[in-house]
Amino acid sequence: MSPYRGISLASFFGCAPAIDPNRSHDTLSYKVLRNQVTPRILFDFICNPISHHNGIADYAPYGLRKVEASLVRDGYSREDVVVAHPDYVEKFIGPETEIVGTYEMDPLGMGPVTMTFTYGRKQISYDEFYNKDLHMKINRAKEKNGSKAKVIAGASGTWQYNYDPAKIEEYGLYGVVEGDLGGIGPEIDGAGAKFFDALINNELETANPFKKNPFKVEIKEFERGDKTYHGRFIHYWNEPTVDEIPTIINPSMHGMIEVMRGCGRGCKFCDVTLRPLRYYPVEKVVKEIEVNMKYGGLKNAWVHSDDIFVYGLNPRTTKNMQPNREALEELFSGIMSTGIEHTNPTHGTLAGAIADERLIPNISKIIRASPDNMIGIQCGFETGSIRLIGKYADRKLSPFKPSEWHWVVKTGIKTFNENYWVPAFTLIMGLDNDETVEDSWETIELIHSLETEQPESKFTTTPLTFVPIGLLEKSEFFDIGNTMDPPKLGVMYKTWQHNFKYGIQKFMHKVGRDNPIKNFFFAGLARTLGGVPLGAMERYARRRGPEHERVIEKIKAKYW
Ligand code: SF4
Repeated sequence: MSPYRGISLASFFGCAPAIDPNRSHDTLSYKVLRNQVTPRILFDFICNPISHHNGIADYAPYGLRKVEASLVRDGYSREDVVVAHPDYVEKFIGPETEIVGTYEMDPLGMGPVTMTFTYGRKQISYDEFYNKDLHMKINRAKEKNGSKAKVIAGASGTWQYNYDPAKIEEYGLYGVVEGDLGGIGPEIDGAGAKFFDALINNELETANPFKKNPFKVEIKEFERGDKTYHGRFIHYWNEPTVDEIPTIINPSMHGMIEVMRGCGRGCKFCDVTLRPLRYYPVEKVVKEIEVNMKYGGLKNAWVHSDDIFVYGLNPRTTKNMQPNREALEELFSGIMSTGIEHTNPTHGTLAGAIADERLIPNISKIIRASPDNMIGIQCGFETGSIRLIGKYADRKLSPFKPSEWHWVVKTGIKTFNENYWVPAFTLIMGLDNDETVEDSWETIELIHSLETEQPESKFTTTPLTFVPIGLLEKSEFFDIGNTMDPPKLGVMYKTWQHNFKYGIQKFMHKVGRDNPIKNFFFAGLARTLGGVPLGAMERYARRRGPEHERVIEKIKAKYW
């Protein structure tokens, strides 16, 4: 729980490697930093803890706020529910405490960004490090204060316990909440009180297929070497209607609010698409922003959306996923009517953004985008390979065709930039373990052609390793530590080189422009840290051999 010093992309810092357990004691880095990779002092500075009052967090992750709101709405008294600051959990765990719920997005560092940064979990990420730290604090508090509280892990990252079940025992988890297909975060906020009642009344002790209960208990058994682990997984897969989704009653981190759930585009590697599409009416959105403004003093609204350009359309009846411009204009007008100063959607597709040429200009006018009010948005670039995009995400391009993908990317960036938006792209490395040498080079070439054809364009690219979720949940993880062939290293190298040269160096000096000390610090930090991954990849290539080195040299000579 951190405000990340107001830098939205810093929220990815938890994915950075914290500890290298295998670092040789003879190295200089061991002598200076011991096992630390990203110095903890730096992490703790950038990811400063959220403020609190008597141990109660002033701001909390949006999903946690939803569960809180659902408990209070459905009968629990305000005094019986607390959203505690992680450093003060001890204050709230005593003999009368029934449930301690933890909100875990990436508990074991297995999310795509983290797997990339830790070479497939060969190092321990800050996400994993601090998640363990939290569970140890909870356990110490239980022991000290004589508490028998049940500890339940929830939120979108709980699927990771299936891959490292020893942690269930180590953390003393009573239960792990999962959605229908494991990977998908359950929408427990529609039935928070029912869920807590069932836990308190011990109704979820054992699996009972004959008992009618919306929460299905599965006791999973995992063989690991000569040990067997057990875990109580609680499944819940009802999707609440918009009316059943509670409205937050306390401020969320970063002014996050949501406007929709689900996405009808159907990308095979994504679990969001398994949910039915629902949209919040404007009045509900406005109410949540007002809570953030009134109780949190927030002046911005971070609009959680899966593909914002799908808002208000019916994917079954709308031809070619044509955006509903009127609904979007109404939505953003409602958001701005609250008096906030800045808003941006979290996610959107490039195809949706350019499917209607008046869409981005009109929204930009409504939300007052300008050189001093740039709008960030995360978009899936996924791959430069026409073959892969057609095979795994053809509807992501609708109304365009896979063969038009390169044009969509170029036009999308141009449209965004002209209207003061900056897309942050994510790419998938090793998509379904089906990425060929040619596919990787196509990605490198596309990024390079953007740099040469549109040299002033502003965008960042983050490669993520493939994680088997969504319709591909039966596939294998892409093992970056062992199976990164030279062209995939090339993709990683090229993307980071782009960020360093075109992103960090050019734009980082704008961070904290209103504060010279902050500005000086972040510009210096960007210059110093920006080149570190490039150097690390070059050293990695030297260790792996001539083929890997040749790819780095080729990129430097031809695609720099
Ligand atoms: S467009 Fe984005 S949110 Fe929608 S299915 Fe594809 S990856 Fe998922």
